[in-house]
Amino acid sequence: MLHNFLTSGFEFTKNELELKLKYQFFNLLLAFNMSAVALAGIFRFYRGENLQCFVDFVYTIISAIMIFLVRRNKKIFPLIVHSAMIVALITVSLTFMINVHTHNFIGISWFYLEVLVVFFLTDKKFSLSIIAISVLIILSTMYIEMGMEGIKAIAFGLIPFLVFSLFVSLYEKRNSIQNELLREQYKLLEAYSYNIENFDFVTVLPNKNLFIKNLNHKIDSVEKREKAFSLIKINIDDFKTINDTYGHSFGDKLLRETVTRLQKVLYKENNLSRIGADEFIVISESITADELMKIAEDVQKEMQQKVSIDNKNVFITCSIGIALYAKDGNDVETLMKNIDSALHDAKKYARNSIRFYNTQLTQHTDEKLSMIAELKHAVEYKEFEVYYQAQIDASINKLVGMEALVRWNHPTKGFIPPDKFIPFAEEYGLIKDIDYLVMQQAMKHFMYWKQQYQDIGRLSINLSVKLLETPSYLQDIKQIMQNLSFSPHELELEITESYIMNDIEKSIEVLREISELGIELAIDDFGTGYSSLAYLQKLPFNKLKIDHSFIKNITQDTDEANLVKSIIHIAQALNLSVIAEGVETEAQKEFLIKNGCNFIQGYYYSKPLSAADMFRYIQTLQY
Ligand code: C2E
Ligand code: CA
Ligand code: CA
Repeated sequence: MLHNFLTSGFEFTKNELELKLKYQFFNLLLAFNMSAVALAGIFRFYRGENLQCFVDFVYTIISAIMIFLVRRNKKIFPLIVHSAMIVALITVSLTFMINVHTHNFIGISWFYLEVLVVFFLTDKKFSLSIIAISVLIILSTMYIEMGMEGIKAIAFGLIPFLVFSLFVSLYEKRNSIQNELLREQYKLLEAYSYNIENFDFVTVLPNKNLFIKNLNHKIDSVEKREKAFSLIKINIDDFKTINDTYGHSFGDKLLRETVTRLQKVLYKENNLSRIGADEFIVISESITADELMKIAEDVQKEMQQKVSIDNKNVFITCSIGIALYAKDGNDVETLMKNIDSALHDAKKYARNSIRFYNTQLTQHTDEKLSMIAELKHAVEYKEFEVYYQAQIDASINKLVGMEALVRWNHPTKGFIPPDKFIPFAEEYGLIKDIDYLVMQQAMKHFMYWKQQYQDIGRLSINLSVKLLETPSYLQDIKQIMQNLSFSPHELELEITESYIMNDIEKSIEVLREISELGIELAIDDFGTGYSSLAYLQKLPFNKLKIDHSFIKNITQDTDEANLVKSIIHIAQALNLSVIAEGVETEAQKEFLIKNGCNFIQGYYYSKPLSAADMFRYIQTLQY
């Protein structure tokens, strides 16, 4: 009952334990004091000490009001305590002053009590002020009443008083240090439990829990701006087998190696997290199928490199699922479900595959994947055929050469134009084989025609930039020419302007080497690559090919016409021969001849022709 009386009134949280103790103590003190003074008041009433009796009752009423106030409101508790302490100090001091002759040591004991209570209930500053005032009051009262004798008499009494307060102060200090340490430990504990909850300890990546939080956050921030993003989920193929074969410590090292590789490729993506034993996921800002395919392929390429751990070499592959926000779900649950289904499909299809959840995008990937497979097949079974387009000196109607243009003779789809497959072949490292096939086939045809007709000019072949980047290309070209006894002076290689300008120093080196073999060099698609004239002068080119896009409108558009005129002037100034591509009409031909460009290639004379047709075409030109 007593406990209830002391603590009821308001609820304390666990953190307010100290406040609760103070509250109980203060209430107990007041209640005790109030009862004692009330009892004294009754005695005094019977003894007829009316004034004292009145004072006692006033005191009792004030105490009752304080208890009442404190029980009502937690906030005013400190205020009440401070006021109570000041009232108590005044009361103790007055009692001491009045009774200084008879009970001065008893009076000082009352001060002790006050100090003890004040230390427990209030802050240090306030407590020290109360001590200082108490000492002042004791000393000055003794001095006024008894002079220096009084001070001497009381001095020894004050020493324990001060020692006592020093102890209390030290005790407080120790308490606060202890609290500080506890708080620090608590913070560490908090950080530790945060880490356990949110991070994977093998790879130090965010775990599924944190990833889901991040994903939620991403969805929230994106919803406001209606921006899309995508998820890329990566699963190591056959990780379980590796783990079972080589042990878990090996598996852990492999996971860490995987993370290093993923970070290398995915440094631009967000929140790389490990959300399962062998599953990783990122949030990507890329949203087009091409961009995402590129990322996924880069990941696969990086993962396929040999892994050496503990003197063992393993090769791993990974399967990848991709889902897009908001097309494939606009909440965490749907997105995660759909990306799982994409990954599942990828796994089912084959190791090392990539799947989009979105079927439209999947179709795109399917097409791309089957294109790569078919292209590989085409290289193996030499499904390519070379077509030839005549290059004519229009001023005298004479054949000056021919350009070899590849066609893919697909078994079911028919002829596929080079623009449709060359970019793929370049990307997947098949261009070298294709270009060499074209070179061999074209050289054989060219040599045969030459035997028949003698003067047929030069054979012009397109070289992919990717080929020029492989280290052995020069040796390979030499080898092909040697095998067929093809003279380098009859070969012309076309290199696109944009390649040359990409890395000018490298180009100078590469082109010199080719030129030194006696092969002629032509700048293809001139006008589309922002050449610098200063550099053109330094490059060992023989010919400049004006891109067909400029020829199209030369007879209607004066700007275009002026442009072509100045290209011709540039060629003349640089001592290069010049040829126009894509010439389709008589008017275009006349314009070019009038302005000094006699060499012409285009439908006006002939479309690209098969070898058999070309053979007949040359015949018509000769006779
Ligand atoms: P390119 O070197 O600019 O080839 C000229 C293209 O213009 C050819 O397209 C040709 O058919 C077309 N053309 C020729 N005359 C006319 C005309 O009067 N009017 C119009 N509208 N077009 C004309 P094609 O054969 O489709 O070749 C496209 C591109 O593919 C070529 O552009 C070349 O960069 C590349 N390519 C072709 N064969 C090979 C090859 O064996 N190896 C490499 N690496 N690239 C090749
Ligand atoms: Ca060309
Ligand atoms: Ca061209």
